[in-house]
Amino acid sequence: MKNEKIFIFDTTLRDGEQVPGASLTKAEKLEIAIQLEKLNVDMIEGGFPASSPGDLESVQEISKAVKKPIIAGLCRAVKKDVDACVIALKKAKRPRIHTFIGTSPQHVKFITRTTNEEVLRRAVESVKYAKTFCDDVEFSAMDATRTGFDYLCKVVEEVIKAGATTVDIPDSVGYTTPEEFGALIKKLMNTVPNINKAIIAVHCHNDLGMATANSLAAAMNGARQIECTINGLGERAGNAALEEVVMALRTRADIYGFDTNIKTEEIYKTSKMVSRLTGMPVQPNKSVVGANAFAHASGIHQDAILKNESTFGIMTPSTIGIPGHELILTSRSGRHAISHRLADLGFKVSDAEMAAKLYPKFLQIADKKKEVFDEDLIAMMEGEGRKGKETYHLESIYSATGSKIIPTTTIEISKAGKMYTQASTGDGPVDATYKAINAIVKADLKLVDYQIKSITKGEEAQGEVTIRVRKGDKEITARGVSTDIIEASAKAYLNAVGKFEGKKK
Ligand code: MN
Repeated sequence: MKNEKIFIFDTTLRDGEQVPGASLTKAEKLEIAIQLEKLNVDMIEGGFPASSPGDLESVQEISKAVKKPIIAGLCRAVKKDVDACVIALKKAKRPRIHTFIGTSPQHVKFITRTTNEEVLRRAVESVKYAKTFCDDVEFSAMDATRTGFDYLCKVVEEVIKAGATTVDIPDSVGYTTPEEFGALIKKLMNTVPNINKAIIAVHCHNDLGMATANSLAAAMNGARQIECTINGLGERAGNAALEEVVMALRTRADIYGFDTNIKTEEIYKTSKMVSRLTGMPVQPNKSVVGANAFAHASGIHQDAILKNESTFGIMTPSTIGIPGHELILTSRSGRHAISHRLADLGFKVSDAEMAAKLYPKFLQIADKKKEVFDEDLIAMMEGEGRKGKETYHLESIYSATGSKIIPTTTIEISKAGKMYTQASTGDGPVDATYKAINAIVKADLKLVDYQIKSITKGEEAQGEVTIRVRKGDKEITARGVSTDIIEASAKAYLNAVGKFEGKKK
């Protein structure tokens, strides 16, 4: 028997974009919407057209360019808001008008400053009005989890009668718990007489860290649409994270028994794009998409994962579009992990040699540094008089930049005793450096991410450049360290070139 579907409604461009500091340009919103289409979400909430002319235009552009998912526009239960949605969604192939009003005593009393009867009347009127333009109408009872049950039932019943095809029960303030929310959805399903005429949706916030759990509890009790955002972006503590909801449903299909339409291999790419364009970093220990989500640091775990990925990995990185497990080498790493990395770098070592000489040496280095990089391992092996794979070495670099000159880099690199020199100009000194290196190594690499941070304190601080580079469908991370940030950038890039050449063999 085929599993039932849970529809994934992405609101990154509406609830996520509403976050202070996360605002996106029209072009950026469109770029994300196109990626969300590749991710194969069922609905994209493109914005809140009545909130600003820019938002209206964004929804218009997304409606023009993105044809596969349903495009939703949000509007208050107010005629002119609905009108703005209608204009914004005119070109959409599958438009949805999403209208809402607060139904909790707090919202009725302090926001609309009216009575329950009046709120119900406006909700019904708004759905009926939206319905004159669009078959697909969603209604949200804002702050549903703090709304009295009998009144909530009445609202749900009446908006379905008025024509709502989806009814959302949002936990707008992130207050509910999985047990309570699951029970609420179940009770609604059993109480509202016409509830099977609409899809029940949920929209959970993460104020108590339970947005994903609450959404899944709702699905177990009858909800069939989950509203979520990439990286859990959204008001305050954010919304349920799409990647968590989707990967929980997939990884524990044995418990949930649902499918989604999401192409999970696009998750990582989407997460990176949203983080880059919104300028909202992803915490390293974030579920599914954090930098450490698939990185194993403990020695016992590293050893096990090299033997078999299923030992400590419940998902494979490739499922969400990451090329491989990243083993971070630290003082807790075991011999097996180090031998493995050394082999990647072209050094074959025996177990005896590792135990007697190399491992104690590695621990000395690891005690001084938090993380041991490839170049540390190479230096260690060269100190032992060993030669690894022939890779490029940075011999010298000269970089000139300023506000009135064209950034220029002259670089000298060597490989297997041969010297290469190249000069290039670029948009900035790093760009000029990478162009010069590309001219020598002729590797068709695409820089997808560049980060710089200081790893020591004071004036002599070492800068560490971490880059992510793509070649074809392969992506790798490489680092470079120097007191000079341009030199660190060059070293990171040469390391990346070396890693790709190593993979070819
Ligand atoms: Mn919200």
